Amino acid sequence: MRSHPAEYELVAPGSLQAVVALLAEQPGGWLPIAGGTDVMVQYAAGTLSARKLVSIWNLPELRSIEVSEAEICIGAGCTYSDLRAHEAVAREFTMLASAARWTGGIANQNRGTLGGNIVNASPAADSLPALLVYEAELILVSVRGERRVPCLGFHTGYKKTQLAPDELIRAVCLPRRYAGYFAYARKVGARSAQAISKVCIAALGKMAGGVVEDVRIAVGSVAPVPLRLVETELRVRGKGIDSTLARVARETATGEIRPIDDIRSTAGYRAAVTGNLVAEFLERLGRDGSKA
Ligand SMILES: Cc1cc2nc3c(=O)[nH]c(=O)nc-3n(C[C@H](O)[C@H](O)[C@H](O)COP(=O)(O)OP(=O)(O)OC[C@H]3O[C@@H](n4cnc5c(N)ncnc54)[C@H](O)[C@@H]3O)c2cc1C
Repeated sequence: MRSHPAEYELVAPGSLQAVVALLAEQPGGWLPIAGGTDVMVQYAAGTLSARKLVSIWNLPELRSIEVSEAEICIGAGCTYSDLRAHEAVAREFTMLASAARWTGGIANQNRGTLGGNIVNASPAADSLPALLVYEAELILVSVRGERRVPCLGFHTGYKKTQLAPDELIRAVCLPRRYAGYFAYARKVGARSAQAISKVCIAALGKMAGGVVEDVRIAVGSVAPVPLRLVETELRVRGKGIDSTLARVARETATGEIRPIDDIRSTAGYRAAVTGNLVAEFLERLGRDGSKA
């Protein structure tokens, strides 16, 4: 059943301070709405349980991208279009820029925000594998102050996060330490645009002296939360890349994931594709990694 607007209340206090004060008055009583591209889908379907919405769309405190020597901090309210247009993000964090390009269509990219993608906590969210391999940290804000948490571990289960009911994500910070790394990202869906991922992957690797000096691999849509493939990374680090290593990595990766059958794909297809993508990443890292 579709929703009726008269059943909902929407306020727009206009500043971050006023929004967190409202959230603190009644923790869990107000649902933040940023671009609304996830919330309005639930509203339209009649499944939005929250009745009181507080707008955080276009709050200036959530919209800036700050570049310092050590990191780039992206306001949680930045849209995919903001990410695509930002020179330093596009140059240094190519996999996040690719995820932004792959997310929905242009209209969606003009409204959908990075913070919303993280908190919506879909296992298929396209930005999350990139954030996991870049070892992003989230700055969470409430009237109690700010805390900084790793993106790795922020998602605690299907659609569950560490965010407290009175908190917002203020910014997402990416350390600027990946010069010289080879980056590999792929989204596998029913078609190349406007499709939710069947599997998505982001991976970084660095070669030195013919062996894999460092490697990070993350995948989405293959478990209740996006995963770093830590066991696969361990098996690969310090080794030379050949067909034996590719086979070991493929098998280890498929053992680490927990894919399911759903309307978009089957567990078997997702497992096979994940293994293929990990093997392809290693092959390209071996071929092009020392040129990165
Ligand atoms: C047509 C269409 C296509 C799409 N395609 C893709 C796709 O290809 N890949 C993909 O990953 N996603 C896709 N999405 C999903 C969606 O666009 C993203 O998840 C988007 O990033 C959500 O951001 P938003 O600002 O619209 O979130 P909202 O809908 O405003 O909010 C989503 C959730 O996040 C919370 N929230 C938002 N911002 C914050 C914050 N700063 N702090 C705390 N909580 C916050 C809200 O309370 C809500 O629970 C698609 C959606 C549509 C409608």
